[in-house]
Amino acid sequence: MDRTESCESQIPPSFEAARLDIRLGAVGDNWRECCRLSGVATAGVVKADAYGLGLAPVARKLSGIGCDTFFVARLEEGIALRPLVPHARIFVLDGAASSAVPALVAHRLTPVLNSLADLACWSSPEHRDAAVHIDTGMNRLGLPSAELAILIAESKTRLSGVNVILWMSHLACADDPGHDMNKTQRDRFRAALGRLPPAPASLASSGGILLGRDYVFDLVRPGLGLYGGNPQPGQPNPFRTAVRLTGKILQVRRVDAGQTVGYGASYRAGRNSTLATVALGYADGLMRAIGNRGKAFIAGTRAPIVGRVSMDLITLDVTDVPNVKPGDDAEFLGEHVTLEELAADSGTAAYEILTSLSRRAQRRYEAAR
Ligand SMILES: *Cc1c(COP(=O)(O)O)cnc(C)c1O
Repeated sequence: MDRTESCESQIPPSFEAARLDIRLGAVGDNWRECCRLSGVATAGVVKADAYGLGLAPVARKLSGIGCDTFFVARLEEGIALRPLVPHARIFVLDGAASSAVPALVAHRLTPVLNSLADLACWSSPEHRDAAVHIDTGMNRLGLPSAELAILIAESKTRLSGVNVILWMSHLACADDPGHDMNKTQRDRFRAALGRLPPAPASLASSGGILLGRDYVFDLVRPGLGLYGGNPQPGQPNPFRTAVRLTGKILQVRRVDAGQTVGYGASYRAGRNSTLATVALGYADGLMRAIGNRGKAFIAGTRAPIVGRVSMDLITLDVTDVPNVKPGDDAEFLGEHVTLEELAADSGTAAYEILTSLSRRAQRRYEAAR
């Protein structure tokens, strides 16, 4: 490293130390790919701030290319989404507890009813629209089999004040195309549909779309795939990368073999090394678990993470990366590091990586590709 002593501390206003690039063009392409793969109506799942990518830009993008049906988890998410997509159908997965009914009505939100109690709360002389979620094996939300049996036996009375516009269920193992649960749940869903009044049906999220046309019914509900995640890790990913996380290198230093790096001195250099300290830490959404495990890419060359992740900083071994200097970008997620790789190195799933990212890093939305 040659020593330059020129003043490098004049940080220009556009200097974005930690940056999150979000490609709305890729989100749009991924939604179209879900339409193409499924061949049926395709919603956009935008719960949890569109998986951390930003509810407003994502919803506007999807709406702009023809998506007219959205799913959120919470009532508050539905209320926030309503003015962004005034004419769209918005389903709220959390149900219709009596305390939620007035707000659901006021904001023209369609609840996904999860129990006979939800059905009773939503039932009204106006026959308001609803989706009904049938539990086919997830044991999380939706009518359990005992309630489903009652609904089937007493469908006239139980459904009298409700206009069911969608029967819905959710797959537990769609990320694993070989799992027995997929067929079991599909067959249970089919059997239930055969005994209930006719209405459109929906079973598949991103993973379900990739299971094939047997799983798509009338409407698919992708989330992860829209944001570039691979719904079936281990299989080729049909979706485009939509998120890139980079940090600027603040400092480059030489250390001798035997020296340690960072808090807890958890890494000891096995050779004389060059280290780069990057302005990205767990406050920017990196998981502490990637300390001493993950990697970054600098101008296309791999650099292992050494030492612990701290709040604002992370350290890379750049001994084998030529010409690294302060101001260079290190990519932790994007073209070179997939969501699935970062998730594996972090000991979590792509979903949690996405929903954790949206913190301090500066966001830039790329409207085009
Ligand atoms: C989150 C969610 C989805 C979207 O799932 P992805 O795996 O992200 O595509 C679909 N349906 C329900 C009920 C969900 O909770």
